[in-house]
Amino acid sequence: MDPDQHADRDALTTPVQFLPGVGPQRGALLQRLGLRLAQDLLFFFPRDYQDLSELCAIADLAEGRAVSVLGTVDEIKPTAGRWGRSRLTVTIQEDGNTLRGVWYNQSFLRKKFHPGQHVLFAGEPKQTGAHWEMTHPQIQFLAEGELPTAGDILPVYSLTEGIKQHQMRRIVKSVVDATTAAVEEVLPATYREAHNLWPIHRALEQIHQPNDHHSLQRARRRFIYQELLVMQLALARRRWLLTHEHSAPPLPTSTEIDSRIQRLFPFSLTADQRLAIEDVCQDMARSIPMNRLLQGDVGSGKTVIAEYAMLLAVAHGHQAVLMAPTEVLARQHWRTLSSDLQNSKVRMALLTGTLSAAQRRENLAALEQGDVDLVIGTQAVLQDTVRFSRLGLVVIDEQHRFGVNQRAALRQSGMDPHYLVMTATPIPRTVAMTLYGDLEVSTLKTLPPGRQPVHTQLANSNQRDQWWSFFCEQLRTGRQGFVVVPRVEETDEEIASVEATFEQLANGPLEAFRLGLIHGRLSSEEKDATMRAFSAGQLQVLIATSVIEVGINVPNATVMTIENGDRFGLAQLHQLRGRVRRGKHPGYVCVFVPDDASVVDARLEAFANSTNGFELAEKDFQLRGPGNLFGAAQHGMPPLRIADLQRDHELVEEARRDARNLIATDPELQDDELIRLRRMVGRRYGRVLKLGDVA
Ligand code: ADP
Ligand code: MG
Repeated sequence: MDPDQHADRDALTTPVQFLPGVGPQRGALLQRLGLRLAQDLLFFFPRDYQDLSELCAIADLAEGRAVSVLGTVDEIKPTAGRWGRSRLTVTIQEDGNTLRGVWYNQSFLRKKFHPGQHVLFAGEPKQTGAHWEMTHPQIQFLAEGELPTAGDILPVYSLTEGIKQHQMRRIVKSVVDATTAAVEEVLPATYREAHNLWPIHRALEQIHQPNDHHSLQRARRRFIYQELLVMQLALARRRWLLTHEHSAPPLPTSTEIDSRIQRLFPFSLTADQRLAIEDVCQDMARSIPMNRLLQGDVGSGKTVIAEYAMLLAVAHGHQAVLMAPTEVLARQHWRTLSSDLQNSKVRMALLTGTLSAAQRRENLAALEQGDVDLVIGTQAVLQDTVRFSRLGLVVIDEQHRFGVNQRAALRQSGMDPHYLVMTATPIPRTVAMTLYGDLEVSTLKTLPPGRQPVHTQLANSNQRDQWWSFFCEQLRTGRQGFVVVPRVEETDEEIASVEATFEQLANGPLEAFRLGLIHGRLSSEEKDATMRAFSAGQLQVLIATSVIEVGINVPNATVMTIENGDRFGLAQLHQLRGRVRRGKHPGYVCVFVPDDASVVDARLEAFANSTNGFELAEKDFQLRGPGNLFGAAQHGMPPLRIADLQRDHELVEEARRDARNLIATDPELQDDELIRLRRMVGRRYGRVLKLGDVA
């Protein structure tokens, strides 16, 4: 590297307040945007762009939306502004409407304008009093009838109070001009050529000051790809570590084991279930740990796959553990397994947060001594006091509740088990490749045979009587039902609560039936007792919060009322509906929406129109945007800055392929050419993904 470049590198780490045109006050404002050093500004990409050739009529202006306006100069008015500043106001008119351009301390501009001149103002308009105004708009003088050149594109940056767009543009431009050359290339040249990616200097310059749309796309593509590659490298690296630095007991199946296990199930497996079991058996037969994600829509029959895998471990004298996100679900699994295993010698233990201290101690001792084969529990099993004697398999049900971090924590406890994760929240493919990029995936696409359709309708208060009479009819023919509400207690008259709804129904439409209620504030014993009574048919209707959202399996339940449907998310609604789609009778869901909702929102519309969880997940992804689905808080992964998993799905696939290839040939990324990439991976993902040495 030439010595000049070294000197320049210091320019990259100049604190922002020392940059031209910044100073301590603005420096502090920039810090609010997370911008501390010059290089932060360099990588502070525009949130949008403004194409000067796309004109907007003054009549169509909207507050804060950056646009260009073409008009003729009407009035030029220099005035003294506050604090001794000079102020220049130039009013242009177009089609009878007017817009003012306002400049401070730029009195030299005055000479450039004269009445009747054709001019273009570009900026973000705001309304002051009865007038539209742009502060420091970009100007272009045009001959009469001339249109602005296509492709004059200005960056639009995110701002914070106290910094204006034109100031931000100026600050960033000076940084780009002064420091871009000092930035080191991250992607090797051979690699860039193969993927048709621009070098970093050109891309940086063009992403801030694009020559035209084409250049802008090329510049963005480079950074989008880079961001995705770094992420996929981290995931590929983690996958490599999981398979190379860990070993697990090989637990092969055999015809004998297979038939012994299958005999326990009360039904024969579907083709999809068989395929998933084959995947699992192949993985478990190896001495590297299985890392498999099993996804399948609500009610697709995932539990039996978990059961199979656990019994396979037990057949080899190893222990297996099944973790559920809630106690209610853990206890349901406990009942299913107890019933399937009633004539077998398998020893089971329940391990949840609410066992008595003595019970817990006893179970833990039994586990440690190897007197228990199968553990079913909640996150409580994650605690370090839990010791297994020969742990062979961990199954996690409803994975979407567990982040990347928790998976890592689990892996580190004790020896290396095989590892099966199940989720009923179908995940769009690109997200799966990201959140679970270190896992292999099996999918249950079909539901078990004999399932009846589930009907969904949206309704308002006019349709209540009709719905409740249908609901009652179902109960009279022996079916059961749910009533789901957003709140436990009444805090707001508009929002249904478990308590108020229970009162109303017990003294109203459902007075002839046996009702129970369940919500998160009840003790585990109470919840469990209620669930058991409902499963056994002693209770006919459960009035519940979304605690019943995941996993609950009562095939005789066929009707569900959802109150304040607008308060639930799409994925959540679909999970809820899954509760009445589990048996041989058709299911019916009625979602009440506010009467005044003139437009039923797109989410509810989508819900009513599809019962396919994968379709709905894609829809949800489109509606909410990946930001929400892929929130750092939820999954423990840092947010993406420029890439968008949905929009850029093709690049996600490309980056993933490339990352896997790179890691396959150079698992430590030791090649000199890759050193910067390796550092980036470490900085961004080292800690969350526990990449150890790479960080
Ligand atoms: P989920 O995928 O939502 O966890 P479950 O494993 O709870 O689904 O299964 C839903 C219901 O389908 C259960 O009542 C289960 O007994 C039943 N089931 C699962 N597999 C089959 C099958 N192959 N044939 C018939 N019923 C099945
Ligand atoms: Mg389940």
